[in-house]
Amino acid sequence: MNAITPGMVCGHHHLYSALARGMPPPPATPTDFPSILELVWWRLDAALDLEMIRWSAMLGALEALEQGTTAIIDHHESPNAIEGSLSVIAEACAEVGVRVVCAYGVTDRHGPDGARRGLAENERFLRAGGRGLVGIHAAFTCADETLEAAAGLAADLGVGVHVHVCEDRVDRDAPTRLQPLARDDWLLAHGVHLSEDAGLPGTIAHNPRSNLNNAVGYARPARFANRVVLGSDGIGAAMLDEFRVAYVCHRADDVTASPETAWGWLEAGRELVPETANDEVEWSYPVADPWHLAFTPGVRPLRVIVDGEVVVEDGRATRVDAAEVRAKAADQATRLHARL
Ligand SMILES: [Zn+2]
Repeated sequence: MNAITPGMVCGHHHLYSALARGMPPPPATPTDFPSILELVWWRLDAALDLEMIRWSAMLGALEALEQGTTAIIDHHESPNAIEGSLSVIAEACAEVGVRVVCAYGVTDRHGPDGARRGLAENERFLRAGGRGLVGIHAAFTCADETLEAAAGLAADLGVGVHVHVCEDRVDRDAPTRLQPLARDDWLLAHGVHLSEDAGLPGTIAHNPRSNLNNAVGYARPARFANRVVLGSDGIGAAMLDEFRVAYVCHRADDVTASPETAWGWLEAGRELVPETANDEVEWSYPVADPWHLAFTPGVRPLRVIVDGEVVVEDGRATRVDAAEVRAKAADQATRLHARL
């Protein structure tokens, strides 16, 4: 008898980064987090158009489902293709059969008009009935008026805010600036340099693999009283892998750490998308015990059921042709990389 669990949730993703793999090297080697943003991600996101966004979301959604992840909490930015972008992502995920909670990351790094258009995209999508949060890139790229406008829009629409907080020291002023605005329904990505007594309410999305990759430090999420969930920050949505990395990072910091803690963070993600409790994933490994899974590579879903529908059977997506999605995404990646 194989283990069956509810669906996994990726608590912080960037589906647009699915096409980043294979991109040309940056014009200079980044030496810190701000230069990683400037030389890699802010060049990539500026080159996106809606067709690229569609196929990055299709590929990201497919890869999530193939790993038993039935819900993605996405944070999107495409400064030259803002209008309609959240609908493109939502439609792609629906086509593959994955639940998605969308947000457009508002920022002033393209001037006040860019911030206004980002805010308008969140509002358009949410008022049309889309499932989402209001996105803010991060406090350090936003004026106070932009932070206030995004928080106000979220409160008016009865949703939370999805924002990067203290991923790196560059964002160290975020707690003071966000504290008067934040609420329990906010989703705070990273929190690496967030003090546990900063008084910020909300859920913290811990992204251990991305934090290692960006050399920003270890968030030590066990210290927070806030709910903690796991995210990938755009590096796929294989949440069992992310759990293993979360465990081993915790262990590196505290040799008495148990994988039960990281497993608890993984499970807490379901509280953000409660319907996933009824999704079913049948795994190739017969136990769903954190101590086993922390040391068992290669565990994969055989069958995934979302909202009563079988969306993965024998490890293969049923609603889309995986080979076709990969081929079309590769075509769009080629177009994207040619612009960099
Ligand atoms: Zn992120």
